[in-house]
Formats: sequence, structure tokens, C-alpha cells
Amino acid sequence: MGKIYIIDVTNRDGVQTANLGLSKLEKTLINIYLNEMGVFQSEFGFPTTRHDVRYLNANLELARMGVLKSIRLGGWVRAAVQDVETAFNLVPDIKHLNLSISTSDQMLGGKFQGKKTKNDIVKMMVEAVDTAKSCGAETIGVNAEDASRTDLDFLIKFGLAAKEHGADRLRYCDTLGYDNPFTIYNTVKTLAENIGMPIEPHCHNDLGLAVANSISAAKGAIDGGQDAYINTTINGIGERAGNADLVAVILAVMKSKDFEEKYQLGKPIDLSKAWEIAKFASYAFGVPIPINQPGVGANAFAHASGIHADGVLKDSSNYELYDFSELGRGEPELVETGREICTGQYSGISGFRHVMGRMAIQFTDTKEAQEILELVRYANVESQKPLVEDELVFIAKYPEIAKNLLTLMPLDYPL
Ligand SMILES: [Zn+2]
Repeated sequence: MGKIYIIDVTNRDGVQTANLGLSKLEKTLINIYLNEMGVFQSEFGFPTTRHDVRYLNANLELARMGVLKSIRLGGWVRAAVQDVETAFNLVPDIKHLNLSISTSDQMLGGKFQGKKTKNDIVKMMVEAVDTAKSCGAETIGVNAEDASRTDLDFLIKFGLAAKEHGADRLRYCDTLGYDNPFTIYNTVKTLAENIGMPIEPHCHNDLGLAVANSISAAKGAIDGGQDAYINTTINGIGERAGNADLVAVILAVMKSKDFEEKYQLGKPIDLSKAWEIAKFASYAFGVPIPINQPGVGANAFAHASGIHADGVLKDSSNYELYDFSELGRGEPELVETGREICTGQYSGISGFRHVMGRMAIQFTDTKEAQEILELVRYANVESQKPLVEDELVFIAKYPEIAKNLLTLMPLDYPL
């Protein structure tokens, strides 16, 4: 039986969302939280984008150090030989890649303006796969952009060519959120059966169906005899109406009717990290969690009406499908209501020592404290908001890595 794995794409699809972004330190914290949660892979950025390079290399260093232990770090690259070569030049230790190219007639005509045929698309893709393999890629996902508007026979041909050249997965991109749970099930099942390769459902939420489509596609892949690698983002943040929400997808896999018995996670997920990761992403993106968000919304476990409140007090299973504690909720949160000393880009050593002292972080001497403070100031310059405790602890623990994350040198790498 095939299994379900999660590839979170917050640090790639999430950060390319209009009006939103994350600092390199915030992206790093997200990789750490995803790793703690047991997520299979983080699509952690663009290895051809110069300002991402230091961050990507620093995170690969964290992997070598064992800080990012079990999670795979995967980069997103256009399926073009030159881009793959650039990726390995700038981020030599990258081991996992997704190579992306548009496959639909709409994109062939509308985006490539008829300058590329379907054969050209397959040729570009297999050449990119060959190049990635020869540069040392250990796993390769091949992305069919706009797959849901692509002719099915061509998708099969595309997937078979990718497999023949050593690709490991086909990413089925419902780029415009056009599918519904019935269409995506049939399509993904057919692809799994005919290509014989694991499928990555990548679903957008333009019709409000991203989560439903993701688990339907996963079922299709498994019924077709293959593993499914569902693409998610934290809080569903992504282009336009967003992507499939990480927590909601996990809940749907684990809790929905008749699902978990047959369609199981291939790598255990620690759901108790859900609250922490959702709250952090909300703060980092500056986007509040909707009150009715599954699992992590303020109202997800709130009851007011007489019948419901009475029922849930007698037995929570009367009106709750799962318990708040499973998502890591229920711990008291400290909110400062009086005097507040926080760190900023102009902080001094006394206030900084006070803040770090609250977290029981001790420095060996003043020089060390001053160096960490300097890094914290730079981190504030980049994020433009007070750092959370985990960010401060990270900087104090891994100052050299933090320095790399905070170093931005325009035109440092040749274009
Ligand atoms: Zn996308």
C-alpha cells in the first residue's frame, strides 16, 4: 500500500505570495519547526535566487550539524539546464530538487507564445533531470505546472519520460485551483497507474478546495499503487487564495471518515506542534489566523449555544472531532500587560541582558553578549518586528549560522 508524505512549500510558494514575505531567520525557524513536527520535506527556497543562497547554504549546514535532522531540504528550480547548473554552483550541497515547467496548451500558447512545442517541453525537462543527476541530486521531483489543464495523454508521456531519466516523483500542479475532488482523484489515479511513479499533489485554493483536493489526490495516487507527497503551506499561505493548509491536511488524513485506516502517513507527524508552527507563521507573515481555521483558529474549540456547550461539557466527543491538546493547545500564554523591554535594531546591552536573562541565557563575558546583541539588531533590521523567543535562542546558540543568514550582499554572486 502506498503511503502519504508531506512536502511543505511555505518557504517557496508561501514567500512568493504578493504582499507577504519572510526574513531568512524566519524561514530557518520554519524549517526547524517543520523538522520537529516530522514533515518529510521542506521546499526551502530558490537555489538560483542570489539573496536566498546564504540562507540555503546555512540551512544545509544546520542539517549537517544535526539541527535539521530528519527533514529533507528541497530546492525549486525551473526545468532548464542552465538553472540547474546555477543551482549547483551556488548551493553545491543541495541534494533534493523539484524541476518545474509548464505543460498545458494554455501555457504553451499563452506563456511561451507558441515558441515551444510539447516535444520541446519534454526535451527541456529530461535534459534538466539529466543535469541534476550528473550534478549529484539524490532525489528529483518533476513539476508539471498547470497540470490540471494539461491533456492527460501528454501528462503521462511527460511523467514516463521523467521516470525514464531517473526522476523520483511527478508533481501534479493544480496551479489555478481548477480541479475538484472527483476530477483530481480520477486524474491522479490514472497517472499513478500509467506512470508508476509517486505523485505530488500541489493544490491551490481558488475554489476553496485545496485541502479536499489534496487528500482526494492522495487517495487517487494510493489506489493507483503509488505513494502521495502532498504539498502544503502553513496556514494555507500562498499565491492568490493560497495553498492546502498544512494542519488541515494532516487533520484530514488522520481524522476524516474511513481515511486513516487505509490511507496512512508514511512518516509520523507530531500534531502537537501544530499550534506553535501556525502561531509563528501568522506572526512572521503578519497574517492573523482566521477565527474559524481548522484546529488552530480561535473558535476551533469554542462553544456558546446551550445545546452544544452542555453536550461538550458532558462529553467533548459530542461536539468535537478531536481534542485541542492534540494540537498543542491549552498551555497558558504569557502576555506582558505592564512594562515591556524588548529587543530592536537600536537595543543596548542592558535591555538585551534583561531580555535574554528571562530566557535563562547566560553569556560567558561582555564581548560575547555584545556580539549576540549585534546579530539580534541585524535580525531586527531584516524582520522589522520584535524577535520571538525561539529566534533569540537560535541566534545565541548558533551565532555563526545567524551571521550567515543575516548577511545580504547584493551582486555578491555573478548573475
Ligand atoms: Zn503553487
